Amino acid sequence: MTPEINAHICGQCYYCQRNIPTQCVTRQALGIDINGGMAEFIAVDAYLLHEIPEEISFTQGTFIEPTAAAYETLK
Ligand SMILES: [Zn+2]
Repeated sequence: MTPEINAHICGQCYYCQRNIPTQCVTRQALGIDINGGMAEFIAVDAYLLHEIPEEISFTQGTFIEPTAAAYETLK
């Protein structure tokens, strides 16, 4: 499992209502606004977890979030 970095999504603001939760006004980013981004283990709410397929290593999984962020920026 790897955690989603965007936590504390309100679901009510302008961005959440338009399905852009990464821009939520109450969003806090794991490792930026919330300590623990570099920890070996961290406790997060279950909704923040993404299962990584077995054929993807943890090292490869580490790059999914920044790659997805770059993709979303270009999209
Ligand atoms: Zn919101």
